[in-house]
Amino acid sequence: MILALDSPDAAFRWCNQQRKDNQRLGFVATMGALHQGHLSLISRSVRENDVTCASIFVNPLQFNSPHDLEKYPNNPNKDINILAQAGCNMVYTGSLEQFFPEVDNINHIKPEDPGQSAKGLEEKYRPGHLQGVATIVKRLFETTGSCNAYFGEKDFQQTLVVKYLARSLKRQALDINVIACPTIRETSGLALSSRNRRLTPSLRKIALNIYRALCLAKEGWSSGAHDPAELERIMLTQLEHPAILVDYASLRDQENWTTSTPDRIISTPRALIAAYVGEVRLIDNLQLLSQ
Ligand code: AMP
Repeated sequence: MILALDSPDAAFRWCNQQRKDNQRLGFVATMGALHQGHLSLISRSVRENDVTCASIFVNPLQFNSPHDLEKYPNNPNKDINILAQAGCNMVYTGSLEQFFPEVDNINHIKPEDPGQSAKGLEEKYRPGHLQGVATIVKRLFETTGSCNAYFGEKDFQQTLVVKYLARSLKRQALDINVIACPTIRETSGLALSSRNRRLTPSLRKIALNIYRALCLAKEGWSSGAHDPAELERIMLTQLEHPAILVDYASLRDQENWTTSTPDRIISTPRALIAAYVGEVRLIDNLQLLSQ
């Protein structure tokens, strides 16, 4: 049985009650259109906590293209069933107006600072996106309260923003422990994403070049090629295709989110790619050191 709540206030009360009852609470934020990637986060939360709650909210603040927002898949009843089967105890949603009752007009919602790690990559190509993520995730954290919060490394830069938010919420006496979880892939290597549903079979094959490019970067790194420019070139070559438009194929230090300079070598490298395959923008990333 899952409890489905359509008001953030009711969710706030439920989560508080769990903590009063000494139940360890796990939380997974989603935009619905659930797949095995989301379910891996739910399963981990179910394993590691006494109760798990999820949110489903397609956050308009993080879409910088109205077309992308319009095309975002939406089937709440199906999602709620999937969550119930995965052992999730409560799911909540709400409207933007319900999440921000203090503003008289949603255009007056105060944007949240996403922190230093929001600089570059996603923020460069989707200006305002990570700020929009930070604004809603902060409100979701305030609604859910102290918890273990599970996020996917598939959105690696987002995990850094979310960790920053969790640190800043300590001032509000909220104890949010962010756990970044591995990316779930199809056997082909394609990272699961709600957006994959918009790929035709032929575009889906072309999209595999993203994971191949990341793997080539990893192979390059293990064979001693540590120059980011060279590894970026290798990735871009793999991504050369008339149906692919690359936003970025970059290397970053995953610990301090720096690029390398002559006097500062990346020590914990992660390769990150964002590219349009046809009209669908996909992102993926891979840690280059073998684990
Ligand atoms: P979304 O519904 O796209 O906002 O994603 C909700 C959560 O699921 C985020 O923390 C994502 O990073 C995570 N997620 C999405 N795709 C995957 C995947 N393939 N593997 C692991 N986590 C994922």
